[in-house]
Amino acid sequence: MTNAFRIAVLPGDGIGVEVMDACLVVLERLQERTKAFALEAETLPAGAMCYRDHGSDLPHETMRKSANADAILLGACGWPEIRKADGTEIAPQLDLRENLELYAGVRPIRAIPGVPLPLADPRARDIDFVILRESTEGLFKGRENGEVIGDEEARDTQVITRATSERLFRFAFELARERKERGKPGRVTCIDKANVLASMAFFRKIFFEIAAEFPDCEADTHYIDATALDLVRRPWDFDVMPTENMFGDIISDLAAGLIGGMGFAPSADIGAENAVFQPSHGTAPDIAGQGMANPTAMILSAAMMLAWLGRRHGEDGCLQAARLLEGAVDAAFGEDGLRTADFGGPDGTAEVTKAVMARI
Ligand code: ATP
Repeated sequence: MTNAFRIAVLPGDGIGVEVMDACLVVLERLQERTKAFALEAETLPAGAMCYRDHGSDLPHETMRKSANADAILLGACGWPEIRKADGTEIAPQLDLRENLELYAGVRPIRAIPGVPLPLADPRARDIDFVILRESTEGLFKGRENGEVIGDEEARDTQVITRATSERLFRFAFELARERKERGKPGRVTCIDKANVLASMAFFRKIFFEIAAEFPDCEADTHYIDATALDLVRRPWDFDVMPTENMFGDIISDLAAGLIGGMGFAPSADIGAENAVFQPSHGTAPDIAGQGMANPTAMILSAAMMLAWLGRRHGEDGCLQAARLLEGAVDAAFGEDGLRTADFGGPDGTAEVTKAVMARI
């Protein structure tokens, strides 16, 4: 046994709480089985219910402990009826991203064996790419200073900075390099709208500057509209796709649809010092409290956390545990015939948890 990592656990609201419970038992089993890592998890309040009960969706203490933890595991936050005074939804995950400068939104899109896919083409089984969503600026930066002028005009401003773009692209090429070692193409495709927006032409210019530092990787570009088309037509051709915040937000959901839905799409928001791991989905009020939530995305996000901790701290055991967890998910669906409710099957949160634990 090596270091104990301090994990800030923010279950949040709705199915966030349900998938987090499932994930924590799975992690406990993994820890017992592998003895490769130890986690000291502390559950902290955040989200819409926290806002309703305590007047803050991200209390100071939660923020402080999260910032000091080795990693942050987050379920999902928000609830349609609970809103801030200005009518916006509760989204502490956005504040976490900005406060901790988590610029790299890593969204792996991988077809899990056995999970039905909407594309009939057999190559869809090879879908395995990563959307890298810049998560601290872009059009979302406009939420700080959006304005409606005299009920006649509204403005949100897109912000692209050199510093953030440079580190996003370096992250993208390093990821492509690492994936290349596992047999992937080593190709980075910058997704932008450089033919129309000055901010996007600037983004692309920086992309090629950073690409020059990585001659072993292929550098490619694609407009966001053509990307939407090709994500449906030939998604198996993509590898690593860095993009602007809002574009990344949209195509992440589209891409999750390609591999069976939000319940299968994990994510990580990574900065220089901190990282948040959470499923791509929200709190799903329509199915909350019914035991139907698919915890796979949450469990795979925890696997990403272990891999990140392993790499960051040079703990091979942690990296191996991450692979074992991914393999357990694949085997539960691909070999044991797990069929979750989100694709019409009978299996809910408890069944997925049990099946994955049995495979660890
Ligand atoms: P947000 O607005 O934050 O994205 P949301 O709950 O409105 O949150 P999603 O979480 O993206 O939207 O989910 C859309 C729908 O997909 C949900 O209403 C639910 O029916 C389904 N869904 C999402 N996540 C899961 C899951 N883990 N398991 C099963 N179904 C899910």
